[in-house]
Amino acid sequence: MAEEQNEILFEVVPLNSSNLSSEILSELCNVAAISKISNGIAFIFPEKVNPAPTTLLPSPMPRYMFNRLKELQTDFNDLYHNVAMDSEFLATSLEKVVNVDPFCGKLMNIMKKRELLENEGRLHKCQLGLFRADYMFEEIGNVGGSDGHKWRAKQIEVNTIASSFLGLAPEVASLHKSVISHLAGCSVQRSRSEPLQTISLPRINSSLEGITQGLISAHNYYCESISPSASSDNRANISEAVAKCIVMVVSETENNHIDQIKLKDNITNTSGVLVYRMTLAQLGNKEECWVDEENGTFLMHRGCAEVSVFYFRTAYSPEQLKTQQEWAVRENMELSLAINCPSVRYQLAGTKKVQQVLACKDSVEKFVKDAEIAQNIRSTFAQFLPLESDDKATTELSVKTALKNPSKYVLKPQREGGGNNYFDQDLVDMLNKFEHSDELNAYILMERVFPVTNQNIMACCNYGGFGSEDTTWSRVVSELGIYGVILSDKEGKVIINKESGHLLRSKDVSKKDGGVVAGNACLDSPYFV
Ligand code: ADP
Ligand code: MG
Repeated sequence: MAEEQNEILFEVVPLNSSNLSSEILSELCNVAAISKISNGIAFIFPEKVNPAPTTLLPSPMPRYMFNRLKELQTDFNDLYHNVAMDSEFLATSLEKVVNVDPFCGKLMNIMKKRELLENEGRLHKCQLGLFRADYMFEEIGNVGGSDGHKWRAKQIEVNTIASSFLGLAPEVASLHKSVISHLAGCSVQRSRSEPLQTISLPRINSSLEGITQGLISAHNYYCESISPSASSDNRANISEAVAKCIVMVVSETENNHIDQIKLKDNITNTSGVLVYRMTLAQLGNKEECWVDEENGTFLMHRGCAEVSVFYFRTAYSPEQLKTQQEWAVRENMELSLAINCPSVRYQLAGTKKVQQVLACKDSVEKFVKDAEIAQNIRSTFAQFLPLESDDKATTELSVKTALKNPSKYVLKPQREGGGNNYFDQDLVDMLNKFEHSDELNAYILMERVFPVTNQNIMACCNYGGFGSEDTTWSRVVSELGIYGVILSDKEGKVIINKESGHLLRSKDVSKKDGGVVAGNACLDSPYFV
């Protein structure tokens, strides 16, 4: 079967606390620790390098759910592309947000400037989207849903900027394959006395390959169709030609550095295209970098290099764009010929507010004409309580409903990167504080998902050195992310649309917000059930 060719089967003792002795768990922890070192599954801090927290074992995931969400990703890519290209929809959806959220307000202003230049034919509409849609899973109950399945996916968010871990996710899958094959060896020795379980791991996770190819395709499109004058592949002329390159825009301090380096190196190794990691401050150095007044190209290295694609791994939160100067650089990049990934349009389409508006009646259908696809997309949506509405009574009712059952909702601002959401008493305090104020317009109220739990061991969460692993079992909940790549041409017509691998993160059930680098969650990988 084609499906099985994409999976690897292992015969092991069931993966739970009653079947795995502490001796075996210690052995497995050592296997995992070595895999982290050999595969670069680590975070870099100012004075140390720590193995990244991962689960010791992969976590269960129904195969049908995994495949269904993967299939749905290209539809989500299309939906978010269409939303982003509809300036009016973005402006209307975010109309009230931009008045109270200066970060979104500034992005909207840049979008409007860009749009003017696009309409005058001075800039193209080519867009590169590297998205990740994140889901948690709820149990439907004993009977299951209408299709007989017992799990339902609820979308947590769609990331359109700086979706991380695409480089580490395949490595975590290798780690789990090492751990499980070690366990299979132990199980074979014990198999006469114990029943074994067949577990199946995805053979490949194409996140690194897919995103690499997306960036290379955008670079090639830029060289061929947007700024074809001097090709960087033209070896004979390379000394005269301005070399074209990709710039990964990064923060000055970055703990998840290795994830970025894996992508950077993979792009150069597979295509020969150079990738520079640069901060906004470096890109704002006018001696080194400028936009050519005549043709709009973004030049750096004192005019020796031309940027084809800016790939952002920063600039998604107000802390990363603090100064006027940083905003000026962001604007220059957006108003240049280079492809910005994401464009300000894509970034605004990825706001939580747009997610909530899409859940309203007929919104998805405005962008997705096929009723079945629209229904499939909608089937993953959580419920939202409208907060900003011309009808004050509606907002008041939403606040009242949430205050009555605060544990059933999450209050979210238009922020990315984890640690910004309000749960339980914090949600109550915030709603009371802002109840009659316009400030509430900056938030969305989302149904809280109570995901299925499973047993796992979190390795390296409190790293105390090799061989000192805590092998305590925890009840964990998982969040599956599906990556997607979309590229459109100069007119905004989609030319590439792909699903591009996955990421599983798990956290202790008691933790509310996620965040792997923040230490709340672990990298994980799925096994099929
Ligand atoms: P961010 O952009 O900061 O990643 P998210 O919407 O992904 O924002 O929320 C961060 C984390 O909070 C998620 O990874 C998840 O653990 C938790 N979370 C968010 N929304 C919900 C929800 N509706 N129900 C339960 N947990 C949620
Ligand atoms: Mg998130």
